[in-house]
Amino acid sequence: MKSCKQLFSLRGVFTILLPVMVFNISSMAQEIPTKGELKKKLTPLQYKITQEKGTEPAFTGKYHNSKEEGVYKCICCGNSLFSSNAKFDSGSGWPSFYEPVSEDEIHEESDSSHGMSRVEVQCNNCKAHLGHVFEDGPEPTGLRYCINSASLSFEKEEENLEIEEDSFEIEDDFDTEEESD
Ligand SMILES: [Zn+2]
Repeated sequence: MKSCKQLFSLRGVFTILLPVMVFNISSMAQEIPTKGELKKKLTPLQYKITQEKGTEPAFTGKYHNSKEEGVYKCICCGNSLFSSNAKFDSGSGWPSFYEPVSEDEIHEESDSSHGMSRVEVQCNNCKAHLGHVFEDGPEPTGLRYCINSASLSFEKEEENLEIEEDSFEIEDDFDTEEESD
């Protein structure tokens, strides 16, 4: 009886803790790489665009035409930035989204370079340059996040599901161990 009670209370504690643990993992800020690490990790074009506010030539990037389902992450720090659900074909030659995954993941700065008045978009975690946001996008936001492919790393939908399954396996292992006592 005693061990049964113990098992019950441990389960109770774990049931409360598990969502908290999963939530913390998913919302945990990604580590910010140093400039030196980025020099090694990124191609010269990716470095120039993300760290020196460059722009890739239109229609040359990896993702402007991509219709695969998944999440676009920051090439520098891995922060989730845009979902394929918000991607649309703007015809501009750059990947375009009408909204970010969350406004918290994006930092906006006014940019008056090249004789234009624009709003620059950065990764809010590592401040990598991503592109610009314009007010000529489609509904529901009317915004067009015009992003360089070189600032992004795409993760397909299936890979995300695998991560979720893994976190449920932790619960299964825990229960098995307790019951064998
Ligand atoms: Zn980043």
